Amino acid sequence: MEANQAIQNIERKIQAIKARLQALGPMRPGSVSQQYNVCGKPGCRCKDPQTPRRHGPYYQLNYVYQGKKKSQFIRRENLKQVRLELATYKKFRKLTDQWIGLALQAAQLRLKNAL
Ligand SMILES: [Zn+2]
Repeated sequence: MEANQAIQNIERKIQAIKARLQALGPMRPGSVSQQYNVCGKPGCRCKDPQTPRRHGPYYQLNYVYQGKKKSQFIRRENLKQVRLELATYKKFRKLTDQWIGLALQAAQLRLKNAL
């Protein structure tokens, strides 16, 4: 296949990726973990000597932004929305990775084409 034609094919794939990116809804990076805590109340169930039952689960959202680790608790009623946004972010990253891969291929073809 001629390089120009190969580049055009790649550009079409990139356009398709852009369209999918455009269609993405709200997103955020990170992951949710569950925490179980022990409190300070004397005689509380969480410190029962036989069958301690910790408090929780509490849902903690962890993410990194601009090299800084951030963490916050998420209310149970917000969990579904947050998980949806985390899933959308994964799609965003997957699509941009694909775009980068295609961009590299096209860039390489343009170099050969220039010879
Ligand atoms: Zn307790």
